[in-house]
Amino acid sequence: MAEKRKYTKKTCKYCEMKVGFIDYKDIRLIRHSLSERYKIMPRRLTGNCKKHQELVERAIKRARHIALVPYIVNTKKVMEFSTFARY
Ligand SMILES: [Zn+2]
Repeated sequence: MAEKRKYTKKTCKYCEMKVGFIDYKDIRLIRHSLSERYKIMPRRLTGNCKKHQELVERAIKRARHIALVPYIVNTKKVMEFSTFARY
């Protein structure tokens, strides 16, 4: 277990920032809960609270629908997208 612990701090980032609503257009907020392949990170890894996890899930799914966030990232594109992910 010790070697795979990337996320040590188990606090909800959205609670810390006091976010009441997560907008699907706000990629900076959504980024916290996306992996480098743009998959939704599970709550046990990010430490999000249930309320915010549900909000962020909905936001990500909406963002995917209007193509702000990709559904699938293939191996070649991972690097490309990680440079885009900086903001
Ligand atoms: Zn929260």
